[in-house]
Amino acid sequence: MARERLYLFDTTLRDGAQTNGVDFTLADKLAIAAMLDDLGIDYVEGGYPGANPTDTELFGTDRKFDTNFTAFGMTRRPGRSASNDPGLAALLEAKADAICFVAKAWDYHVRVALETTEEENLASISDSVRAAKAKGREVLLDCEHFFAGYKANSKYALACAKAAYDEGARWVVLCDTNGGTLPHEIETIVGEVCKVIPGDHVGIHAHNDTEQAVANSFAAVRAGARQIQGTLNGLGERCGNANLVSIIPTLKLKPEYSDTFEIGVSDAQLKKLALVSHALDERLNRGSNRHAPYVGESAFATKAGIHASAIAKDPATYEHVAPETVGNKRKVLVSEQAGKSNILAELERVGIKADKDDPRIGRLLEIVKERETAGYAYEAADASFEMLARRTLGTVPNYFDVTQFDVNVEQRNDAKGERVTVTLAVVKVRVGADNMISAAEGNGPVNALDRALRKDLGQYQKYIDGLKLTDYRVRILNSGTEAVTRVLIESEDENGDRWTTIGVSPNIIDASFQALMDSIIYKLVKSGAPA
Ligand SMILES: [Zn+2]
Repeated sequence: MARERLYLFDTTLRDGAQTNGVDFTLADKLAIAAMLDDLGIDYVEGGYPGANPTDTELFGTDRKFDTNFTAFGMTRRPGRSASNDPGLAALLEAKADAICFVAKAWDYHVRVALETTEEENLASISDSVRAAKAKGREVLLDCEHFFAGYKANSKYALACAKAAYDEGARWVVLCDTNGGTLPHEIETIVGEVCKVIPGDHVGIHAHNDTEQAVANSFAAVRAGARQIQGTLNGLGERCGNANLVSIIPTLKLKPEYSDTFEIGVSDAQLKKLALVSHALDERLNRGSNRHAPYVGESAFATKAGIHASAIAKDPATYEHVAPETVGNKRKVLVSEQAGKSNILAELERVGIKADKDDPRIGRLLEIVKERETAGYAYEAADASFEMLARRTLGTVPNYFDVTQFDVNVEQRNDAKGERVTVTLAVVKVRVGADNMISAAEGNGPVNALDRALRKDLGQYQKYIDGLKLTDYRVRILNSGTEAVTRVLIESEDENGDRWTTIGVSPNIIDASFQALMDSIIYKLVKSGAPA
């Protein structure tokens, strides 16, 4: 049976750019657009040409994308003709495949915010759609505050949508601009709209103010809408927009939708989803949400012993979809509750062969429990767990020894008489028969130590050249009488592989040093560096 086509519209670069603390550069926008294009998204809204220099530049050049690269802007201003509105002119000049206009659909807003008549607002919609069609663009109309407007004056809200559709707009998008509408209301109202405008011309643009933007998007689809607008990781003003990273796999993997609908994202593209989601966070320089559905680090993580042994027998027992389908992976957490089956499952996952009757497995379990009591958290540091396991099982070569290190933090006046803090680390390393000394300055003690440690590892240097630290987190734990510091370091290599290591000590430099060492040795083992 032929499935119906459902279209995805991404507005990360326009509505998502409204997020507090997000400020995309031109390079950011181009990289994110390329990622979305690669993912198979039908429409990528780049921004608002004419509104700021970045967006004007973005739309100043032809972009070679498969996606419909879309420019956003306002309909013509009230009281002006379409040919005499500089804002509209800039939008029509933008190098874009599609133009998405935004117009008011709530009579109250038309009168109070626009200070114009209902008729003039309708004429502005028709004129703008006509002008963009004449320029050969595909046209969308975002009906702002559609749901609130519909509740106040359904006839007028519908008239706005209808004005665009009658003029040839490809899509009329119903926006829940303040994000307060509930799923059953969305379903009812979208159903009413689809009696007037065919559903394959109706889109939904939901905001997450009641944490139901995703549910609202699906409610609209059930009622007949065939375009979903959203953003990567639900980025967006206030509580964000509908999260496409949750919507896409649900459409692809849940028979309720996948039996009925087809989207532009292939199975192979779906496997890139976790990577795309994390790459956006990386670009925003923020940590990824561990608990994000489908793509979060914990999305397929299991803690308790009995669950772990069941998962080892058949993963489907505790997983609603297979983690690989979205580019994620299964994770069995090693924790205080860990039983032997947990340890064995985790060893298998990291690729270590072990015999369940090997007495060293029991010893590893003891060590993990002891260390977790001391403040280690291996469930957050899989690479350190792997190093601990390999050491206990005797499979980590002794690549090098740090025989001594020294970190010096000095505060003094510089030549201009300003107070500066200078940090210098000196590390003595023995690699085979060679003794080496490296020194490096850093913006802090851990940074200096890291740089000195990785400056010269002799014959092993080439294996760690692509290693970089991507995150560093510190927590002070109060365990009984004294406070200890727990350091988690996230590293990444030239292949984009990431891992986390841990260190615990009363001394923050010591704890950091342990985590740094684990990361370097993990990378050497992973790269198959010869002993
Ligand atoms: Zn919005």
